[in-house]
Amino acid sequence: MKKILFKGFKIFNGTDFLESNEVLVENGKISKIGNDLDCNDAEIIDGFGKILSPGFVDLHAHFRDPGGEWNEDITSGAKAGAAGGFTTLVAMPNTKPAISEPSLVEYVLSHGKAAGASRILPSGCVSKNREGKEMAELLKMAEAGAVFFTDDGSPVATSALLRLALMYTGEDQPRIMEHPEDASLFKGGQVHEGRVSALSGLKGIPAASEEIDVARGIAIVREIGSRIHFTHLSSKNALERIRQAKKEGLNVTCDTTFHHLTLNENAVINSGYNSRYKVNPPLRSIEDQKSLWEGLQDGTIDAIVTDHAPWHLDEKDEPFEDAPFGIASLECAAAVLIDFKDKNYPDVPLELILKKMTSAPASLMPKKWQSLGRIEEGLLADITLIDMERTRVVDCSTWFSKARCCPWEGIALTGWPVMTFVEGKMIWQDDEDL
Ligand SMILES: [Zn+2]
Repeated sequence: MKKILFKGFKIFNGTDFLESNEVLVENGKISKIGNDLDCNDAEIIDGFGKILSPGFVDLHAHFRDPGGEWNEDITSGAKAGAAGGFTTLVAMPNTKPAISEPSLVEYVLSHGKAAGASRILPSGCVSKNREGKEMAELLKMAEAGAVFFTDDGSPVATSALLRLALMYTGEDQPRIMEHPEDASLFKGGQVHEGRVSALSGLKGIPAASEEIDVARGIAIVREIGSRIHFTHLSSKNALERIRQAKKEGLNVTCDTTFHHLTLNENAVINSGYNSRYKVNPPLRSIEDQKSLWEGLQDGTIDAIVTDHAPWHLDEKDEPFEDAPFGIASLECAAAVLIDFKDKNYPDVPLELILKKMTSAPASLMPKKWQSLGRIEEGLLADITLIDMERTRVVDCSTWFSKARCCPWEGIALTGWPVMTFVEGKMIWQDDEDL
């Protein structure tokens, strides 16, 4: 396999920027990091000061495969990920059928491999057929390659089932990823319960819905000593529960999304209730949004995920109340966040943001994958090159994803991934030259 020498880059290793500016890749792995590396037979990629980062790791992406391939399939999703700088994507299991047995875990893995783009790692359901009744065969799915267990789209239906699943998933097993929501409070909701529900008359989803489910998970973990990961945190009070649980020393982790960090309920109002802003959990108050940035900085939030939720335009472009929940973002998420951070939180170090997109999420996966998201000698060469100067307008019509609308359509953003490599193989390159 050919060698590649990356020269003249600012190298981010998953935690910090390094003094060195060269990386040599051989046989799909990072063989050397340094300066003035000597390698005559390598292809040279000159960075001219751009960033070389570990490929982004997304713990939460929806592909509608099997069962809804017109919205997205594993191939289009894997290619969309590559074009967004993601080298690893965890596929959510709420497909049709739901991924709740080993053969379906294998289906996701094999289709992911065949796509030849971002690495697709499956998650499996907590409950059989995602029905919330009986526990699925968690350990067999783990053996087949599942990296999380979740009934995402819904919370685990009962506390007893959640408790049982947490007992089965100790140190070496995949984590339970809980979609924090109280089903009875969510029911029929459309938007955040607050300013936007009051102005629109749309039924609100109270922030307490999220907090109650987080409190439930923490209470069980406190009692049985397992660990739990809460996904797509959106609200201040739920986050505070997690902050306190961490202080207590409980093994509780969480993520938030690119869109909850960069948008709030006013975007729904200002758009005239455009369905592209309809998402669950809903875009919440400015105060909630600010609390997420605090949570990132004080370590309460472990990772940033896309919750990429693609819909065909015919399904998504409907009046607000009739449209499905979900924002598709794989191909612009990194730029959305980098651009927003630079304009609104210039003092937050870029390292912090990149860490929560690379080494931090990888560390929440089973051992086999924990070294993803790092640039170190001997590790797999999953690499994303980022041009902090590049400005591009988001144009969903050019996406690999089958989704054709998103909140940032037509908006110019600065700071984009420009090239993506998985195991030393280039899987995507921006049209413009590096
Ligand atoms: Zn969810």
